[in-house]
Amino acid sequence: MFAELDEPPLDPILGLAQLLAGDTSPDKVDLGIGIYHDDQGRAPVLDCVKAAERWLLETQPSKRYLSSSGNADYNAATRALLFGDGSDGFARSRTIQAPGGTGALRLASDLLRRLSPGGRIFIPGPTWPNHPAIFKATGHELVVYPYYDIETGKVRFDEMMATLGAMGAKDTLLLHGCCHNPTGADLDAAQWSAIADLVSKTGAAVMVDLAYLGLGDGLSEDAAGIRLLAERLPEFIVATSCSKNFALYRERVGALTVVGASETNAVRAHAHALPVARTLWSMPPDHGAAIVAHVLGDAELRRGWERELATMRDRINTMRNRLSARLAGHGDRDYGFIARQRGMFTMLGISPEGVETLRREHHVHLTSSGRVNVAGLNEGNVDRVADAIAAVGN
Ligand code: PLP
Repeated sequence: MFAELDEPPLDPILGLAQLLAGDTSPDKVDLGIGIYHDDQGRAPVLDCVKAAERWLLETQPSKRYLSSSGNADYNAATRALLFGDGSDGFARSRTIQAPGGTGALRLASDLLRRLSPGGRIFIPGPTWPNHPAIFKATGHELVVYPYYDIETGKVRFDEMMATLGAMGAKDTLLLHGCCHNPTGADLDAAQWSAIADLVSKTGAAVMVDLAYLGLGDGLSEDAAGIRLLAERLPEFIVATSCSKNFALYRERVGALTVVGASETNAVRAHAHALPVARTLWSMPPDHGAAIVAHVLGDAELRRGWERELATMRDRINTMRNRLSARLAGHGDRDYGFIARQRGMFTMLGISPEGVETLRREHHVHLTSSGRVNVAGLNEGNVDRVADAIAAVGN
């Protein structure tokens, strides 16, 4: 079985890590992998997480199985973060814990296949490369809708809506809740509203991927899109991740939240998701979710988390401003969009050759798509990176 196998293509992210490790320059800059780095270039464990881990170590009575749904406190805290404690969206939703945002998306994909067989999934172009891979793995047909204008850094909203007009009642629309990966270009309130109108007309389902909550403009600001959907649509689903906003990457903390027209409908949809999870991973990993549940349930730790999250967010937005301002000094392209976009990423239209030159000559490492992780910039490297990007051109 194995002897006949070809050499598979190197996973682009793993390939990037190898190139980075092989770069011996003291000036090397990692703008590739989607991880937040502080101003010293480190990706530390958050203080609130350390405190919760100490608490867990001292107090956890048992490691017995919980259930396929995972940690009930974590699930309730997730719904409260999404819709606000005691809100209508909170009441009409149920959450199932999953291994990371990836696990939540895979669960959603399997669930959609069962509930809406033959339906297509409409994904933005471009999107996180794992989206098409996950949905295809579950046998979905995909349609790419235009999303990003590389010249202006804006959403190609009219073209997007024209393509989405072809959605049918069995189809599903994938939206990024905030901090679009890889472009940083988000929908504004009027655009969310127009999408809600269109979806109501077509009867298509909506799946929101919210992997960067709190890293754009703030916790409630970044939830504005899904809160608008909760007011306007009877049903939708949300895949969340605590990989970035709690810096819990390797602990695999995510969730799938189903919103129904009524609480009864949400409970039923949740019940249909449970057997799917049972066949995928049976029970989700507990450690990270137990940490998040404790941090969000403890007033002091929660304040600490919100402070640490604000530090990450503010640093990202400061770096956006710095990159945009420095690039503005080179040539006549308007780079103001970098400062207006949100989240860790932007796309400037750097070609694969430009990416290669940045790596070889400037020790600046990007994914071959030209995605720039702004969270890898800091006071010590931002000007040099901007000058290198300008030198390479597009
Ligand atoms: N969705 C998007 C858009 C992402 O960028 C990521 C991670 O980079 C994820 C989901 C999944 O994150 P994880 O599975 O690590 O929680």
